[in-house]
Amino acid sequence: MAIQADKYFQLLEELKPYEAGLVAVSKTKPCSDIQAFYDLGQRDFGENYVQEFLEKVPQLPNDIRWHFIGHLQRNKVKQILPHVYLIHGVDSERLLNEIQKEAAKANLKIKVLLQVFIAQEETKFGFDQAELSAVISDLNQWPNVDIRGVMGMSSLTDNLAQVRAEFQQLKQASQQLLAVKSDANIISMGMSGDYSIALEEGSTMIRIGSVLFGARDYSNK
Ligand SMILES: *Cc1c(COP(=O)(O)O)cnc(C)c1O
Repeated sequence: MAIQADKYFQLLEELKPYEAGLVAVSKTKPCSDIQAFYDLGQRDFGENYVQEFLEKVPQLPNDIRWHFIGHLQRNKVKQILPHVYLIHGVDSERLLNEIQKEAAKANLKIKVLLQVFIAQEETKFGFDQAELSAVISDLNQWPNVDIRGVMGMSSLTDNLAQVRAEFQQLKQASQQLLAVKSDANIISMGMSGDYSIALEEGSTMIRIGSVLFGARDYSNK
């Protein structure tokens, strides 16, 4: 499957007025596709699965900024820390505690985003409002974790007004966080199906898979 180079340049144009970043989501896709986007100038790539991520890293240029965007289990934290640029899906205090513990041992400071639950779907992960407020009230608990912003996923729905409202909710969470940490200015929201709305609602980083790499095939996953 060839990469969608034309779509890539079109996306970069669309992003310009917003000054937003692009994470190319390469889960299930071969290293050759990632290399092809790298050769076009792309440096930020997103992966969801620890095993797949760890297999790809040594096969690709070492100036790639790897974003871990999937649901991260605590027992896998240690393995990804040396390779990851930004962890998007930090969705519990227990996970924050684990990242703190392993980052301290390895003498690292790890950049993360707090995943906020904005969808009306129970299958999605993230902090609810009360949990988020609790985390924000005392960020000093995690000196080796550098909280740089928020991440969220909208509901899978055709109701665009609902998607927009969910992104607005994430923007509000971002402002709550920014009030206590002024460099926590990343808002990671928007995927292939909803990135235009996300940009209008203040996204600073979109995560795009299928528009760039084509549809995913999970049959051998
Ligand atoms: C897979 C995935 C994406 C990209 O999805 P597309 O719809 O293919 O653009 C973005 N964010 C997360 C968290 C994902 O798991």
